[in-house]
Amino acid sequence: MAVDRDTLVKVLALELKKGCQDTAVVGGLDKFLHTFLKENPQAYRHLMPAFPAGTGKRGYALLPANQRKAWLDEFMQALQKPAAKPAAAPAPQTAGPSPRRPKKPAVEAGAPGLDAPVSAVRGISTSLAEKLSRLDVLTIRDFLYLFPHRHLDYSHLKTVSQLTEGHEETVIANIWEARRIAIKGRPSTEAVLGDSTGNVRAVWFNNPYLARQLGPGKEIVLSGRVRYFGGRPVFESPDWELYEPVEGFTHTGRLVPVYPLTRGLFQRQVRKLAKSIVEAYAPLVTEFIPENIIRRNNMLPAGEALMQAHFPDDSTLKDRARFRLAFNELFLLQLGVLQKKRSWQVNRTRPVPTDNTLLKSFLGNLPFELTGAQKRVMKEIFQDLALNIPMSRLLQGEVGSGKTIVALASLLNAVAAGRQGAFMAPTEILAQQHFKAVTGLLGRVFEPVEVDDFTASFKLPGGSLLQVALLTSDIKNSVKKNIKSSITAGATRIIVGTHAIIQDEVNFADLALAVIDEQHRFGVVQRQALREKGDNPHILVMTATPIPRTLALTLYGDLDLSVIDELPPGRQIIKTRWLRSAERYKAYNFIRRQVSEGRQVFIICPLVEESDSLQAKAATVEFEHLSAEVFPSLRLGLLHGRMKASEKEAVMRRYYQGLLDILVATPVVEVGIDVPNATVILIESANRFGLSQLHQFRGRVGRGQHQSYCILIAETSSEAGAERLKAIEELQDGFKLAEKDLELRGPGEFFGTRQSGLPDLKMAKISDRALLETARREAVALFEKDPDLTLAQHAGLKKELTRTWSSDKAERS
Ligand code: ADP
Ligand code: MG
Repeated sequence: MAVDRDTLVKVLALELKKGCQDTAVVGGLDKFLHTFLKENPQAYRHLMPAFPAGTGKRGYALLPANQRKAWLDEFMQALQKPAAKPAAAPAPQTAGPSPRRPKKPAVEAGAPGLDAPVSAVRGISTSLAEKLSRLDVLTIRDFLYLFPHRHLDYSHLKTVSQLTEGHEETVIANIWEARRIAIKGRPSTEAVLGDSTGNVRAVWFNNPYLARQLGPGKEIVLSGRVRYFGGRPVFESPDWELYEPVEGFTHTGRLVPVYPLTRGLFQRQVRKLAKSIVEAYAPLVTEFIPENIIRRNNMLPAGEALMQAHFPDDSTLKDRARFRLAFNELFLLQLGVLQKKRSWQVNRTRPVPTDNTLLKSFLGNLPFELTGAQKRVMKEIFQDLALNIPMSRLLQGEVGSGKTIVALASLLNAVAAGRQGAFMAPTEILAQQHFKAVTGLLGRVFEPVEVDDFTASFKLPGGSLLQVALLTSDIKNSVKKNIKSSITAGATRIIVGTHAIIQDEVNFADLALAVIDEQHRFGVVQRQALREKGDNPHILVMTATPIPRTLALTLYGDLDLSVIDELPPGRQIIKTRWLRSAERYKAYNFIRRQVSEGRQVFIICPLVEESDSLQAKAATVEFEHLSAEVFPSLRLGLLHGRMKASEKEAVMRRYYQGLLDILVATPVVEVGIDVPNATVILIESANRFGLSQLHQFRGRVGRGQHQSYCILIAETSSEAGAERLKAIEELQDGFKLAEKDLELRGPGEFFGTRQSGLPDLKMAKISDRALLETARREAVALFEKDPDLTLAQHAGLKKELTRTWSSDKAERS
């Protein structure tokens, strides 16, 4: 089918007349334009800067209906202008496309499927496959989901005369000459190129081999920064590719993807592979989101979104691709947690009724009144406990909001029912502290019979004995053996310990309720394990990390949510101040004054490395420096994760007892430690921590009646860094800080979703609340209609859901 320019104009006019429905030609306008361009490569190439969509393969069809008319109008007008002839000398008059290799099919005949290993793709050797595996790309499908982390905008084509100094520009030009030259003694390549408006030079340093590839007469596309020397434009080491109007642009002339790399992989290589794989395989990705959801949210089809995420036709499509792919992730995440919730809810357990008598005597004898929020969440928890569906509830409340009382009151219901409750913390120190808090509170209310380091008993109003025990791996074996057998016999009713309680072979006589403090180290998988323990115990997960509600509903959708959004009255504002390293001496002077008034201080050590041992080392060095040079006359203690439990315990005890003025610690003290006399916390390298984490640290002080202070030491060069530190100086509200944190840091750093057992989020930003809500709403609606995804139209979705939540994937990530 030979078409000429007139035919083209006629087709465009017809399309316009038919109301821009893309019905003027069979197969659509894009296909027509594509064929046309193939046959007439010069016909409207000069228009490409203005009409990139038309030269792509799917440009017109993807335009929103209301923009098509304008596009057609402009395109037709532009076509009326004469095509520019190459200006200078003997440009080859052949109209055919530049010679190029015949296009290889991306895959062998009898094409491997999406789940075939990448090595099945022609051109991917085993050694290349090995390198790709380091980017978590094992299968062809994985490659489709290896998203570029950004795009270079080389989409605005210019003529040589339009080039501007210092800007990143793209031109299409003829090569007049290309040769090896030496620049500062280094073998390099220089080329002279030109279009109808003028000539431009390009140089590639340290790359003499290019000269051979750039034969005179070829057309080339250059993208990169332009500099002027003696009034003449020069591209310095630009990105380049030979101009191939049919295959379209890969490395230049468009929004160019930039991929994550690993040793031995090169950007051009990965980009080229990505292009052939995406073009061949993205169309094979079957749509798994129901049609009506796609339409309602004006989303791109699955395959199209993948294509546009890698090689977007324009930035609007790039954004729409992101939206669609992020939607996929959140939608599948949400459906998965809804199914998990349902799967444990079909289990039955024994109700734990509220024992009003015991509760009254407990609450009535506390030295304070519960806050409204505490009362409300208690009611929510007690209602759950009284059902035969096992509770699975997340209790959120700021540091100091009084979660312990709520937990303990809940545990007392289990006790009153003649059953057992467990109270678990992520670390030994915290477990010990919980044990002290629990026995301390019980001791204020009920008559203590016997209290030691690991066990305690109290006389309850009815005269019965309540036995409480601490169980951690540190405890001497002989003692531990006794405690374990008392748990198995059912004599010990409240067991405080580390998460190890459920992993160890501890046999509970009759576990009714498990309370878990600090959720983020305790993910979906662990909750599942716990639910399988005993007779489907009720589960209460507590966290001091304030998670915005929508987010909590999504990430912890298998849990119901209770929030303590009120602090006990009279809580002070902790004065917070950010100092630069150079002002550290001010902090030290301030600390000396506070200590001279009898107060105590925490110093949180530089977070040098994630590793325990390196942290310990850094803390030790800092401790020695502070003891010898800064505070020689004060009493300092050191606490880090590498110390023996008995050593930690000894240091903590001395600090509690006021025998130490300053506790130098690694971030292990993050949660829970309660020393009312501590009034200053100094945090080194504060910019390394998240806002929520800093807020947790800050919660270590201000627990007594003295005004307390938080000093942050940080150098920060980034604006976001400064904004975060200013936010914590100004804000005392943990929820507001959490939102800010999400905004500034993104969810990955906020959560470490990896630990949580949830599928990875590659595209979704959890700070995008609108998207979260949309995905959640759609997932809930679909789930209500077809929870098991048994309807035929949901078969694809079911498969995709299984794939995302498969343990294989969780292990790999
Ligand atoms: P969280 O675990 O939420 O950080 P805690 O349960 O440790 O907080 O409570 C912090 C402190 O506040 C404890 O000393 C506790 O006894 C006290 N407290 C708890 N509830 C109240 C209340 N309603 N009124 C006054 N003090 C309270
Ligand atoms: Mg607590």
